[in-house]
Amino acid sequence: MRSRQVINPATEEPITEVGMATVADTDAAVDRAARAYPKWRDVAPGDRAALLRRFAAIVDDHQEELAQLEVANSGHPIGNARWEAGNVRDVINYYAAVPERLSGRQIPVPGGMDVTFREPLGVVGVIVPWNFPMPIAAWGFAPALAAGNCVVLKPAEQTPLTALRLAELAREAGFADGVFTVMPGEGPVVGSRFVSHPRVRKITFTGSTAVGKQIMAGCADQLKRCTLELGGKSANVIFADADLEAAAATAPAAVFDNSGQDCCARSRILVQSSVVDRFLELLEPAVKAVAVGDPSDPGTAMGPLISAAHRDRVAGYLDGADIAFTGSAPRGPGYWMPPTVLIGGSTSDRTWREEIFGPVVSVVPFTDEADAIRLANDSDYGLSGSIFTRDLGRALRVSRAVQAGNLSVNSHSSVRYWTPFGGYKQSGLGRELGPDAADAYTEEKNVFFSDK
Ligand code: NAD
Repeated sequence: MRSRQVINPATEEPITEVGMATVADTDAAVDRAARAYPKWRDVAPGDRAALLRRFAAIVDDHQEELAQLEVANSGHPIGNARWEAGNVRDVINYYAAVPERLSGRQIPVPGGMDVTFREPLGVVGVIVPWNFPMPIAAWGFAPALAAGNCVVLKPAEQTPLTALRLAELAREAGFADGVFTVMPGEGPVVGSRFVSHPRVRKITFTGSTAVGKQIMAGCADQLKRCTLELGGKSANVIFADADLEAAAATAPAAVFDNSGQDCCARSRILVQSSVVDRFLELLEPAVKAVAVGDPSDPGTAMGPLISAAHRDRVAGYLDGADIAFTGSAPRGPGYWMPPTVLIGGSTSDRTWREEIFGPVVSVVPFTDEADAIRLANDSDYGLSGSIFTRDLGRALRVSRAVQAGNLSVNSHSSVRYWTPFGGYKQSGLGRELGPDAADAYTEEKNVFFSDK
């Protein structure tokens, strides 16, 4: 088995080596999952719920360890990493309620009785990106397991450590062999084998739109179900009547959190032209105040980028760009980049149109409400976005008009496990999280009983 070095992006030092699974390893893992499935499907609902709650409790006991692992592997600030490990616990707990509530319907029909059942699919493949290794894994595996499926999960090449630890914790909780397997490996090897393997009945993929399209095309061959959570280029729309101080104070975190490596990053700021100068005056000190540095320091708000290659890719967007101002970044080892604000560009610039996935935001003025909606929707993506206004009617109109799956008014909320999450247009297909997530890991079966 080939192995790959895992690098700490804040120091550039190797942490450990992780074996990369082959196609044969992947086939063996899928076979184990398929063998484990009938027994797991038939576990009594209350017992499956109890097992999930035990898993959540063990994750809670290891919250600090998991957080420290993510600080080292992903360079996430420790405060963020603790939240992420806590999110895994909360998501497992939330879906622990599913087994005892996964009910069908009784539908009135003539000549007998009609009932529906929610039945698990079998083996589900979850493919995870490197930007939020822990939460994104849990948003897939928790509802899938709760609905009675077995899960094979591939973490991103760069960030396998927390997923591997979560699989160990699941075993400690009492999950049988094959119910939840983590397979570190390369996308075109392990990930694409999940897609082509006939015993994998669904793919939940989070990652780039380009790879998402390949996954969907691959799934078409077997009519395999897929949920796709892809890229974004979300708009933060700020009207002249808004609380400008609050809008400027919160705009940096809305794009620079996780160093901008966030599919929901509000990387396009649209400001009504009458207040754009005042907004920029307020934004500049807020950007300069973003604490960039050692991720293990609780005061740090922004860590490094994930790799040298990714930093170079992000930096490529700044060639010839009109930089208004930047924040700070440490010198020396680590894949650092300061928070960077661009203004004066055109909406045809690639910095405005493409997902940069780094700490870069563009500011563009708009004239009126119709112009704001037009500019916000002038994107292939439609994942997230924010609207700042004191006018309730406008908040309602604009939030209905912007084509995005997750909008937030006078705030920047995107992902809460209680509510559905996913994208319009090329940001994805299907929804994760929220009360209905487990349904996406089931088939709905209809049975008619004749009264004759
Ligand atoms: P990526 O698409 O390169 O990789 C994502 C995962 O897919 C990795 O595990 C990778 O190994 C795997 N993969 C790569 N090629 C594959 C193939 N041919 N077949 C199967 N699997 C394959 O994306 P990335 O660089 O890891 O992540 C960044 C992207 O993820 C961004 O575009 C971001 O917007 C997106 N993202 C979306 C969400 C969301 O919920 N919508 C959340 C986080 C990240």
